[in-house]
Amino acid sequence: MTMGNALMARLLRSALDAGVELWDRAAVVDLLKDGNRITGAVIERNGERIEVTANRGVVLASGGFSANPEMRAKFIPYPDQHVSLVPETNTGDGLNMAMSAGGVMEEENLCNGAWTLMSLATHPDGTVTKFPHLFLDRPKPGCIAVNSRGERFADEAALDMVKDMHASGSVPAHLVCDHKFIKKYGLGMVKPGGMGLKKWINQGYIVTAPTLAELAGKIGVDAAGLEESARRMTRYASDGHDPDFGKGNPKDVGMGDPDHKPNPCLGPVETGPFYAVKVYPGDSTTTLGLRVDDRARVMDTAGQPLKGLYAAGLDMNSLWRGVPPGNGGNNTLSLTFGYIAALDMAQGEAHDKVA
Ligand SMILES: Cc1cc2nc3c(=O)[nH]c(=O)nc-3n(C[C@H](O)[C@H](O)[C@H](O)COP(=O)(O)OP(=O)(O)OC[C@H]3O[C@@H](n4cnc5c(N)ncnc54)[C@H](O)[C@@H]3O)c2cc1C
Repeated sequence: MTMGNALMARLLRSALDAGVELWDRAAVVDLLKDGNRITGAVIERNGERIEVTANRGVVLASGGFSANPEMRAKFIPYPDQHVSLVPETNTGDGLNMAMSAGGVMEEENLCNGAWTLMSLATHPDGTVTKFPHLFLDRPKPGCIAVNSRGERFADEAALDMVKDMHASGSVPAHLVCDHKFIKKYGLGMVKPGGMGLKKWINQGYIVTAPTLAELAGKIGVDAAGLEESARRMTRYASDGHDPDFGKGNPKDVGMGDPDHKPNPCLGPVETGPFYAVKVYPGDSTTTLGLRVDDRARVMDTAGQPLKGLYAAGLDMNSLWRGVPPGNGGNNTLSLTFGYIAALDMAQGEAHDKVA
């Protein structure tokens, strides 16, 4: 296994080796309380409600609120068009249970989610694949993102491109490229080399036309605007400089094509046929969560820790306030605060006495 799967498999192996009993299809529906102390949780499993006593404490890690419609409406821009990558089971249960017990949830970060540019591919059986446009297509030379006026609104290579999508009201938008581009780098579900192009055109995921004006008509975008955006990008490709949005700046170039000159991120949009895929704002995590102290304990409205209640992962407010210093900013924090919570529980009352 590799990447996230390998991380989870190793954690599972460690848990099993340590004799941890794991329950699946077991939803926590309530917290047990004795006075001010959280003493356990109520779990629904196989149609039964089971009260589980926690001698040391309860750690909430139910993955934030991306799939909670009310919280999305409150905290996420364009909630009706927003496409989340997180599991549909992440409905904010941990946050709501903690708040019912007196805990505080932060309501505004610098960025309330790890925004991700998304497209949706519908299969013949009606199922939908959500595709995150991370780095394979949009930073590459010859891909432009346009709104309904056919205008670019962002540096397509920027990690926080969705912020500009929100700010300029370009929701939904389209990524547009020419034939040479799609054959080399792919576009969304079309893989580099152009693999899958015919299939995705037939399924309506990729729209194509011999000219930009015809493409604009098919995707509902202003034709003159799109032609002008393509013309400008083609000019910037030969200059190696994008004066409009700075695509291809030093932060971007690592995600471009190092063999493309003069700028790894700037290429022409001129050789028909042309292609477009519709894109939406989305998230790979929410960042708003429970206020915790340096021992991962959930804080109450009076700024005091709730005894026996901890939060980690996306149920804990982002220490970075939603703007991590680099990639891996979620998992490193989750692992660290999960460890801190466990350490605190292990030290238990002894820790409280020292404190
Ligand atoms: C495509 C993608 C790429 C990513 N890449 C990176 C990366 O490179 N680096 C990085 O640091 N982060 C990355 N992330 C983010 C990272 O995956 C998350 O931050 C992390 O998984 C959050 O862990 P969590 O335990 O808080 O939530 P999750 O892993 O979502 O787990 C929460 C679990 O709680 C369960 N649950 C919900 N409610 C209840 C309930 N009431 N009772 C019982 N269980 C419940 C859910 O079913 C779910 O299984 C990525 C995310 C995505 C989607």
